[in-house]
Amino acid sequence: MKTKRILFPDQLGDHFINDHDGDTIILISKEDMWARKMHRAKAQWWLSAIWHKKEELGKRCQVLEVNTVKEFVNSFKGKASVIAPTSYRQRKAFINKHNFEKLPSRGFVLSEKDFKDWIGKRENKKSKLEDFYRFQRVFHSVLVDGKENPVGGAWNFDHENRLPPPKNVKTLDLEKPYYPKEDEIDEFARREIKRLEKEGFKFIGTDSKRVFAATEKEANKLLKNFFETRLKQFGPYEDASLIDDWHMSHSLLSAPLNIGLLDPIKVIRDAEKELKNKAPIASVEGFIRQILGWRDYIWHLYWYFGEDYSNKNNHLHAKKKLPNWLEELDNSKIKANCLSHVVKDLNERAWVHHIQRLMILGSWCMQQGINPQELVDWFDRAFIDGHPWVMAANVIGMSQYADGGKMSTKPYTSGGSYINKMSNFCSGCVYKPDVRVGSQACPFTAGYWKFIDKHKDEFKKNIRMSQSVNGLKRLKDLNQLLKEDSNTI
Ligand SMILES: Cc1cc2nc3c(=O)[nH]c(=O)nc-3n(C[C@H](O)[C@H](O)[C@H](O)COP(=O)(O)OP(=O)(O)OC[C@H]3O[C@@H](n4cnc5c(N)ncnc54)[C@H](O)[C@@H]3O)c2cc1C
Ligand code: SF4
Repeated sequence: MKTKRILFPDQLGDHFINDHDGDTIILISKEDMWARKMHRAKAQWWLSAIWHKKEELGKRCQVLEVNTVKEFVNSFKGKASVIAPTSYRQRKAFINKHNFEKLPSRGFVLSEKDFKDWIGKRENKKSKLEDFYRFQRVFHSVLVDGKENPVGGAWNFDHENRLPPPKNVKTLDLEKPYYPKEDEIDEFARREIKRLEKEGFKFIGTDSKRVFAATEKEANKLLKNFFETRLKQFGPYEDASLIDDWHMSHSLLSAPLNIGLLDPIKVIRDAEKELKNKAPIASVEGFIRQILGWRDYIWHLYWYFGEDYSNKNNHLHAKKKLPNWLEELDNSKIKANCLSHVVKDLNERAWVHHIQRLMILGSWCMQQGINPQELVDWFDRAFIDGHPWVMAANVIGMSQYADGGKMSTKPYTSGGSYINKMSNFCSGCVYKPDVRVGSQACPFTAGYWKFIDKHKDEFKKNIRMSQSVNGLKRLKDLNQLLKEDSNTI
């Protein structure tokens, strides 16, 4: 009898089964998927992807719902192969289970072994994105000439990016992204959610029409559409936000990439080819850096930093609970225009772009002292592309500085003036970005200075933060600011 291949719901692409001609089991663990309140749009899209895969594979494939992966593994009779799962919990379930052939992970560019070799050779054993990214470029021969020099004369064109949005525009005026057409499997996925609700599982957010690619075919259409309509603009406005432009020039590829519908190395090779279609090198390099650099880096750091990195780090001793409006994705009482808008978009699509995650949601939570472990849990459930491995370095490290600087050299946070410069949120807001006290005080500006004051003893030791700490001395209204409630949004 042929061995079976166990697939997790984030291993749905052909590259997870193209070496296997036996039957497959797509394993849905209730503990991993539904035990914590997932965004409805995410649940609908993910179930749609699972059942589309089942339809494609036909009789060869069984979708099996189990309580926990551990329970399934312990009771499984016979032999099967499994590709290294993407979370500690799932991997632990297979320890000492010799009837499973354990294959190395897929869905990322660099193997775990090659990452270990790379980091092992570094004298201080410290990792830095830029070094990792250059290593990746050479190791995989991406955007390098025959002599291992960077194509275009530079490794990184980031200095050409990070521009504020163009003035007096409502959108970047790019074509609408590709929207998949829903079918009967999407309706089936909705019925499944109702069934789960009857079983007592709870969901958050609204389930509007499906926006994200749920099959390999759709994901490839989205990729092509991104190359044709948004790649040339990728980069310059990466950090900008416009109220009426939810996607800007972003690719929207993280969701299909993270459930394996696209093979990242193929995406990178296809992006390289776009240079021939006159895509600027700064855009192509910028996009490739996100996938070959950032995405792979975040993945490897999850394993390198270890399980406790996400579960235990709380360097700034942040203890507050997640506010109810974030848990419920309810913007109805939020007056702060930036937060209100981002929460509304998140409620609708389970997605907002990077800078809104980092400098609006993450920054507000760090200023307010929301517990980082609550945030790891929330980002994982509320975002279409959320998975445990993505949370570690992005949420604990980059967004909350909960690791004390292992991941970034200073906390990513700002007052309202940065948000004002990089978006058009502030002009329609009841608060004023440059006001620190009183009824018009911007919660980000007031929150920023309170945050700096609270942690000044820690931050004055950090050369990149000492200027901000010194800035406190210039604030004539500091005493009043500290007395006021910057929690009001
Ligand atoms: C607090 C916080 C939480 C985040 N949570 C997630 C998450 O749950 N899942 C997730 O995939 N990304 C996450 N990110 C990274 C990034 O915000 C998203 O990958 C990106 O917004 C997805 O939209 P896109 O596909 O249009 O990306 P684009 O802007 O088009 O970028 C292209 C691709 O690069 C990859 N990428 C770029 N940066 C990162 C990164 N830091 N980590 C991982 N991949 C990256 C993604 O695969 C993305 O599709 C988070 C970032 C922060 C600051
Ligand atoms: S004024 Fe402050 S709260 Fe209002 S949109 Fe600007 S940054 Fe956000």
